Amino acid sequence: MPTITTLPSFDAAINRFDPVMGMEVHVELGTTTKMFCGCSTEFGAEPNAQVCPTCLGLPGSLPVVNRVAVESAIRIGLALNCRIAEHCRFARKNYFYPDMPKNFQVSQYDEPIAFDGWTDVTVDTDDGARVFRIGIERAHMEEDTGKSLHVGGATGRIHGASHSLLDYNRAGIPLIEIVTKPIEVPPALAPAVARAYVTELRELIRALGVSEARMELGQMRCDANVSLKPTGASSFGTRTETKNVNSLRSVERAVTYEIRRQAAALDSGTAIVQETRHWHEDTGETTAGRVKEEAEDYRYFPEPDLVPVAPARDWVEQLRGTLPEPPAARRSRLQAEWGFTDLEMRDVVNAGAVGLVEETIAAGADAAGAKKWWLGVVARTANERGAGIDEVGITPADVARVQTLIGEGTLNDKLARQVVEGVLAGEGSPDEVVTARGLAIVSDDAALGTAVDGAIAAMPDVAEKIRGGNMGAVGALIGAVMKATGGQADAKRVRELIVERLSG
Ligand code: ADP
Ligand code: MG
Ligand code: ZN
Repeated sequence: MPTITTLPSFDAAINRFDPVMGMEVHVELGTTTKMFCGCSTEFGAEPNAQVCPTCLGLPGSLPVVNRVAVESAIRIGLALNCRIAEHCRFARKNYFYPDMPKNFQVSQYDEPIAFDGWTDVTVDTDDGARVFRIGIERAHMEEDTGKSLHVGGATGRIHGASHSLLDYNRAGIPLIEIVTKPIEVPPALAPAVARAYVTELRELIRALGVSEARMELGQMRCDANVSLKPTGASSFGTRTETKNVNSLRSVERAVTYEIRRQAAALDSGTAIVQETRHWHEDTGETTAGRVKEEAEDYRYFPEPDLVPVAPARDWVEQLRGTLPEPPAARRSRLQAEWGFTDLEMRDVVNAGAVGLVEETIAAGADAAGAKKWWLGVVARTANERGAGIDEVGITPADVARVQTLIGEGTLNDKLARQVVEGVLAGEGSPDEVVTARGLAIVSDDAALGTAVDGAIAAMPDVAEKIRGGNMGAVGALIGAVMKATGGQADAKRVRELIVERLSG
């Protein structure tokens, strides 16, 4: 893998070059059946259990458009302030790939269902929050491919594999591809804007209820196009397209890396090749993929087996009426409901935790408690693992349960933290961790009494002070009891027991 060993810093790169970005995001719709056939889309079935002649591309089979997928596409388009085509067609995109049994993908080309829209994203800067309007070029419908599994190699990639297996369960699942117009923002903010855009889009898709948009499951996949031009130049440079950047954090990292890499290449007089690139999560680098096809290489032509889609205007208007609250409005509403300061809300938004905090509160936690766990130990763990905050194995229901256990007096904050750590370590639900690790607060008088007596016996001088009315000394004994019980004693009850024993 040829790597340029000395890359300029990001700051040095954007001193000389202005980046231009374009984001292509594929969203797998949560329909129950596929785009052009009645096969189930349920995740996790045996390989090739959810296939039929249509999604296997067998001769003579005929596709039929999934109405719910069209409806979802229109709602996504409307939510992105797009125009909805009065008439649009599907097109065949011809290329050979083993996981695409027809040798063409049914997509849309010159007639997407939605086009010419925009969405606003907010990023934090040193001068406070700034809003950028991202232009939306198009949102079009297409079908997903199957999946290849390369067996026998060390990396799971085709190189070094002894054979490959194909699973067509995913073939034909409806996808919406959303493509931005070129994004030009203050260079220093480019990576953050790219991330904010994908974050915003994910929130919008979830709010629409058209997909869970879980990036770790491939339900939302992002390709990041980046090019550089000399500072202040007007014409764009040659772009690369980094494929499958599948977490919010990776979007930011991949764009940053690509800006640095391209700056190094251009500085050394090497032209940028229009190519796809692979993102490597572990090294934070991209490597060359295939030289990018031009549209004409795909020999697009209208799909002859499908009728055009001509959504009636009154249907479109009716769907407009089903749009959810826009994410920005929702954030202000939730901030007011939760009583968070701007700064607190910003932290929640930046952590990508708005929905998680909302669900945690819905499951019974108070706002401050919900925020504390997600932004504290959970966020730190996610960071350490290089994963998303929603990908580390704890759910809103778990966090709410921990808060309930605190409220009930079963846990104190310190024990609760260990419970959360246990859940994050995969030890089970909060209740299971409490049981397995024996973490519940001990408030049983018999057990506490023994510990209290032990502390008094061990610290006779302190006991004497308390007998003499110096209540400030109680803390030292409580501390000793807490230590002896591994932090599990009910501190309030311990104080009562000490006072009972040493007064009168
Ligand atoms: P492709 O079929 O090659 O994937 P698309 O038109 O679907 O092309 O997507 C290209 C993306 O890259 C769009 O978001 C577009 O706005 C963006 N883009 C186009 N030209 C440039 C450029 N020179 N630099 C950065 N991004 C670009
Ligand atoms: Mg594309
Ligand atoms: Zn099928």
